[in-house]
Amino acid sequence: METKSDIIIVGAGIAGLYSAYILKNLGFNVTLLEASGNVGGRIKSITDFCNLPIELGAEFIHGKNSTLFSFLEYINLKPQRIRGENHIYFKNSLHNEDDAIDKFPELKDALAFFETQWEYNGEEITVQEYLEKQLFYQSAKNILDAFGLEYGTSNQHLGMKSLAKNEALWTSGKSDYKIMEPLQEILNEFSEVIQDDLKLNTIVTDISYEEGKVQVRDTNLNYFEANRVIITVPLSILKKKLIQFHPKLPLSKNEAIQKLGFGPGMKIFLLFKEKFWREDLFEMYGGANCQLYYNPWPRTRSSPPVLVGYIMAERADYIAKLGNQSIEILVKELDQFFGNKMASKNLDDFYIMNWTKEPFIHGAYSYDSPYSEGTRKELAKTLKNSLFFAGEATNFNGHGATLHGAMESAERVVEEITTGNVT
Ligand SMILES: Cc1cc2nc3c(=O)[nH]c(=O)nc-3n(C[C@H](O)[C@H](O)[C@H](O)COP(=O)(O)OP(=O)(O)OC[C@H]3O[C@@H](n4cnc5c(N)ncnc54)[C@H](O)[C@@H]3O)c2cc1C
Repeated sequence: METKSDIIIVGAGIAGLYSAYILKNLGFNVTLLEASGNVGGRIKSITDFCNLPIELGAEFIHGKNSTLFSFLEYINLKPQRIRGENHIYFKNSLHNEDDAIDKFPELKDALAFFETQWEYNGEEITVQEYLEKQLFYQSAKNILDAFGLEYGTSNQHLGMKSLAKNEALWTSGKSDYKIMEPLQEILNEFSEVIQDDLKLNTIVTDISYEEGKVQVRDTNLNYFEANRVIITVPLSILKKKLIQFHPKLPLSKNEAIQKLGFGPGMKIFLLFKEKFWREDLFEMYGGANCQLYYNPWPRTRSSPPVLVGYIMAERADYIAKLGNQSIEILVKELDQFFGNKMASKNLDDFYIMNWTKEPFIHGAYSYDSPYSEGTRKELAKTLKNSLFFAGEATNFNGHGATLHGAMESAERVVEEITTGNVT
């Protein structure tokens, strides 16, 4: 079978859907090819675990100054600001972060690192190497181990300089927001517009490209032709060379693909019979087994009693291997945090989401590995005015690894296509 269109888009995560939506509205004829049986990619909401939707992947809206935030307002989904308090497990008990700093002055510098890393201006070393040289490291090790998690990895894999340079570009705002509806709902507006152009269960394996012409092939030997193709697959797919390019990608692009980080990641949801934590509790750092837990709905009285374990990098691989046994480990750790076996006696249900095992995702999200400065831009570079790259990892404006970063990358390729000014 052969299908012809102006533009083929590979991958129907938020970057692929949003670029298809804008291009369609501009009058282009698009074909959107998605390997899995559904749209959304790393956006996946579950509505039957408890009485509010849980987000297996992306969950928080980072900042207000973004395309995503404006889009949510436009479709009448109201992002609520997260107003919870961070807590720290230190010296065998759980403390509110501010109280912990008052009580244990040795934590002040360690916690400040979370806010000031982006000011780093020295030579490239890993975050781990940097921390090990700091006087505050030993006493606050378990807390500091959580630093890399937000970036989708562990401290060993993050480059101090590369991360700082990228973080310094962040402009979307400091506060986090969340909607009470399933995050998947943000995709409905796009899906409605592009539904006739979407082909699910279509695993792209080969892309041939030349000036003004592309041919895309899937595993069923279907061929799709167009003038241009936008590739929005996760960085892991490119790293593993699951799509072959003809001609081969230039060395500089391949080096960027290999250098920029992308690794294992999972979330474990624990549903309890009742809340045994303070209503204002948001994130908890300092556990030895799972360095970051969070309450998805702080200061929301009607919310279900759920805590989430956020696990990345090698630890995610280790925990994943344990299967359901990992639940026991997390619950025991929470028993230590809260005392009185509160977690084990209240556990009702759990859900393990391992992104590494998702066949078309293979991990969490891109991160700034050592010496990766400039790789996002290289990754984004258009080839022969026919091969365009979008998706979170290609965002070189400081918003990689996020939903709004993926949307911005979609806007960038659309602008390149419509103006002819390519990256
Ligand atoms: C655990 C976790 C928590 C996160 N939390 C947040 C958060 O709170 N806030 C935030 O802003 N971001 C968060 N993110 C990041 C966010 O989810 C991503 O940045 C964003 O969803 C990426 O969108 P994308 O379109 O670039 O890629 P994806 O959503 O990965 O879409 C790519 C699509 O390509 C498809 N594909 C792959 N291979 C092929 C192929 N060969 N042929 C055809 N299609 C293919 C995939 O199936 C997928 O649908 C989180 C991610 C994870 C995993």
